[in-house]
Amino acid sequence: MIMKCVSCGINVEVQNNWVQFKCPSCGESEVVRCEKCKLVGNTYKCGKCGFEGP
Ligand SMILES: [Zn+2]
Ligand SMILES: [Zn+2]
Repeated sequence: MIMKCVSCGINVEVQNNWVQFKCPSCGESEVVRCEKCKLVGNTYKCGKCGFEGP
């Protein structure tokens, strides 16, 4: 399954360390982040409401 990391924008096969959750702001958009972005604490941005978070 190929997913796109919303932080760094790369398309990578999802592995165990990927995190996926609903946007805490609007609760509609799925936020996907790769292990690298999680480690370095890159921000993500919701594609729906524009919410940015760590
Ligand atoms: Zn990433
Ligand atoms: Zn949102």
